[in-house]
Amino acid sequence: MKVYKFGGASVKSADGVRNLCGIVSRERGKLVVVISAMGKMTNALEVVANSFFSHRPDTGRALQAVIDYHEHIVAELFCDNRAEIDAALSPLYDRLRRILADKPSLSYDYEYDRIVSFGELISTTIVATYMHTQGIGARFVDVRGCIITDANHRDANVNMEISGTLCRKAFAEEAIYVTQGFIAGTETNQTTTLGREGSDYSAAILANLLDAESVTIWKDVPGVMNADPKLYDDVKIIPLLSYKEAIELSYCGASVIHPKTVKPLKNKRIPLHVKSFVRPDEPGSVIEEFTGRLDLPPIYINKNNQVLLSLTPRDFSFIAEERLSKIFAVLASYRLKSSLVQTSAISFSLCVDYNEVNFSKMVEELHDEYEVLYNTDVELITIRHYTKEIVDKLIGERTVFVEQRNRLTARFVVPVERR
Ligand code: ASP
Ligand code: MG
Repeated sequence: MKVYKFGGASVKSADGVRNLCGIVSRERGKLVVVISAMGKMTNALEVVANSFFSHRPDTGRALQAVIDYHEHIVAELFCDNRAEIDAALSPLYDRLRRILADKPSLSYDYEYDRIVSFGELISTTIVATYMHTQGIGARFVDVRGCIITDANHRDANVNMEISGTLCRKAFAEEAIYVTQGFIAGTETNQTTTLGREGSDYSAAILANLLDAESVTIWKDVPGVMNADPKLYDDVKIIPLLSYKEAIELSYCGASVIHPKTVKPLKNKRIPLHVKSFVRPDEPGSVIEEFTGRLDLPPIYINKNNQVLLSLTPRDFSFIAEERLSKIFAVLASYRLKSSLVQTSAISFSLCVDYNEVNFSKMVEELHDEYEVLYNTDVELITIRHYTKEIVDKLIGERTVFVEQRNRLTARFVVPVERR
């Protein structure tokens, strides 16, 4: 049995959905197809969630943009044959409208999960229904009933034991299944999410629990590249990577796979293929157990949407372990992930993934004890297997706010360069 994961870019249009069906119908055996929200719909739903939570008047408009985007794809896929898709989608739109008609609770993270999860619920409903019209007998599984997490909203932790039992039951047949990435549920039926870009992780969890023979992530790039082809011209594909290298890369912000993806696969030695949905016959890259020496080229990763935060205790006391652990606890409580940390005697700099609502709340909380400075216009550039030439080429004369190097990796926090 195999697991296929299709990300937002692969289902951003009606053509994308048709292409997905083409790839799925070539597969003969049992298959679990994990799908993300279409295109940039998670971002669009974040706008809805933020607006709703902040009681802003534009929530309705933000919701309409989400519905219009999907309806455009639906119109193209189903033409006049709309009875089945309308019957499947209307209850979803209605549920979302009902949530937004009410007042938000006090928990942003809870509201976020309730709202943003509709991206995956809608995309899988459209894809599974379209498959039926094409004669592919796919079974729809609502993954919230079988990947079970705690209630740590927006970064929920999976209970592998309970999920294992439920998943083996839900995906028992020799069939094609369509299910959601990124979202999950608690034992008390609350909706949770696994962290942004978490669909890869969902695919890895399902593969682990169902003892899959492999996972394939279908992407708009031909495999794992040594840099983002949207930013650089001279990129090459890396055909083979060890699990360890893949974890390091994804931790540094390589968007090709989500950082949590590798562990569930490594634990069961399940290979992970990264392939192009545009050219499905090309070999792509494979990530698997490999202990020999891999001759890897410099790999560089630009991580955007970062904020560089600098904290200095108001009483000028030293940054000691106790302070550090408190600062990290505050970060964790707002689900803010630090991607780089640097300490000096009395100040503490960190680069964190930016989130509008939670970031300002965190600054407020730290403000009593620390002088807080921050800069939201920065990016984090990581170069694995760096050489002097590549550092000169990428960083050159740019202003560097923070720099860190070890034997294999060099990292730089720099102002965003408008391209
Ligand atoms: N749709 C979610 C996101 O954009 C999950 C994913 O794409 O993996 O973060
Ligand atoms: Mg996505």
